[in-house]
Amino acid sequence: MKEKLAIDGGSKSITKAFPWPVYDETEIDSVAEIVRGGKWGNPDCGDEVAKFEKEFAAYCGSKYAVSCVNGSVSLRLALIACGVKPGDEVIVPPYTFIATASVVIECNCVPVFVDIHPDTYNIDPKAIEAAITERTKVIIPVHFGGLACDMDAIMDIAKRHNLRVIEDAAHGHGAEYNGKKLGSIGDAGSFSFQSSKNLTAGEGGIVITDDDELYAMMSSLRNVGRVEGGQWYDHYNPGCNYRITQMQSVLLSRQLERLEEQTIKRNQNGLYLNELLKNVKGITPLTRGEAITMHCYHIYIVKYDASKFGDIPKDKFTEMLAAEGVPCFKGYPHPLYKQPLFQNKNFMCYAIPETVDYSEVFCPVAEQACSTDAVWILQHAMLGEREDMESFAAAILKIQAVTSSI
Ligand SMILES: *Cc1c(COP(=O)(O)O)cnc(C)c1O
Repeated sequence: MKEKLAIDGGSKSITKAFPWPVYDETEIDSVAEIVRGGKWGNPDCGDEVAKFEKEFAAYCGSKYAVSCVNGSVSLRLALIACGVKPGDEVIVPPYTFIATASVVIECNCVPVFVDIHPDTYNIDPKAIEAAITERTKVIIPVHFGGLACDMDAIMDIAKRHNLRVIEDAAHGHGAEYNGKKLGSIGDAGSFSFQSSKNLTAGEGGIVITDDDELYAMMSSLRNVGRVEGGQWYDHYNPGCNYRITQMQSVLLSRQLERLEEQTIKRNQNGLYLNELLKNVKGITPLTRGEAITMHCYHIYIVKYDASKFGDIPKDKFTEMLAAEGVPCFKGYPHPLYKQPLFQNKNFMCYAIPETVDYSEVFCPVAEQACSTDAVWILQHAMLGEREDMESFAAAILKIQAVTSSI
């Protein structure tokens, strides 16, 4: 039976809202208490920041955590602490948020784009090996959408080539690889607390590590180059003030108490949605990889095949699905190397060698993901109930019934 699509004025498949962030009086009271106490700052005004850092490090099974203003700065702190020098190469995927690559430029290093695997949309370890040169210093794998990268393979490559690994776990709070929390496997793991992320305080970031030296340097860089035991106006390293407030920290502590339950729910909903979509022609959920014990579905990604939907382009399909009430998005318009920053080499004051040229870079899997394949269902929708997953699948089938004759 063909129903009228919501985009054409028909009734929506789902009318329910999927609120984000999730909070109650507990969060409000905690923040209000700090506001009333008048100690809002960090580091000398109170201990909420250090408390949250300890909680987050313990949650991830890491020795240390250094909080900072956002998940771009946390990547940058980790890169600088790894000791990169101007002109060093850093391997990154092209299918990610700009920060993964732009912080490399900000450290005067050269992002080298390595394609993703078509089954996972995570950086392809086989392609990493081929991109390594004598200038390569760091690999930044991104656990895209909350799905763990093939960390065994990546750590093995890093060991053989003497490279550092900084996990970009901005999508990966609470997710696991072989029972280990994402971010705790490489030399350092970086997280974002920006509004859309699975753990949020509106803004914020954190970087975790087991390495004493990386920790000491990252916490100094975060705090205008001060060192532990030093005087307030003694500055040893070229850092900046990247500190977060006490209000952010208590909010994050309260939100962290909700994270495990939310992650389990998203994971279960993801598994169920995989089942529901298994026999839908033209919609292929990404695989979960073999070593995944917990996927946190920051993004639930399917590959879309227009030929099973009357050749309507992905962007149109995504609009139709959104109109049906499914919180979804078409994703990145282009792989990162296509951004004007790289194509026009707008590197400004940064010390990027003249010879660097992104005009010939082409990663076919990332290209196809951007242009025709990837459709994203967003994390707050994955916090719905089982019936909601059924409604998402039904909305897709409704669109298929109207657009195609299969
Ligand atoms: C959000 C995000 C970041 C950066 O986080 P901000 O807090 O917005 O600076 C880094 N990497 C990825 C993959 C992200 O999605």
